[in-house]
Amino acid sequence: MKSDCLFCNIAAGTIPSVKVYETDGVLAFLDISPVEKGHTLVISKRAHSETLLDTPPEIADELLAAARTVAAGMMAAGFGGVNIVQNNFPDGGQAVPHIHFHVIPRAKGRTGPLVWASGSNPYADEAERSAFAARLREGIAQAAS
Ligand code: 5GP
Ligand code: ZN
Repeated sequence: MKSDCLFCNIAAGTIPSVKVYETDGVLAFLDISPVEKGHTLVISKRAHSETLLDTPPEIADELLAAARTVAAGMMAAGFGGVNIVQNNFPDGGQAVPHIHFHVIPRAKGRTGPLVWASGSNPYADEAERSAFAARLREGIAQAAS
């Protein structure tokens, strides 16, 4: 891992995050500036890599499987749809140079394409943030059972 990398520090727990799913290899946590409430990021805890192109295939596979698990949990939690986004390189809109998948729940009846506007749907307060995280954790547990 890389000591000066934001997401390596979140993976290690030295920078706090609101966790929704965790295994030995991956961590899923709420995005700090959600484009939709419930916007979740999936990162690897195994190694630092920047983009999909320098990530070992087995780690990329593990990340995608985790993104799928989170997406299934969102559907079990009653959302209407899910967008999965993965940005690469600054010109691809990647702000944090540690590979991550965005898993973004869409409310039922929320038609139209995803609008990518960081922070456009903030939580009203910490209680609402915690409630969304709990809803996602419950949905993920339900989808796995
Ligand atoms: P990118 O643009 O690199 O694909 O996405 C980076 C994401 O990381 C953005 O959606 C941004 O809101 C999120 N982010 C940046 N800093 C933090 C942080 O300290 N904590 C959390 N939870 N999310 C962050
Ligand atoms: Zn890193």
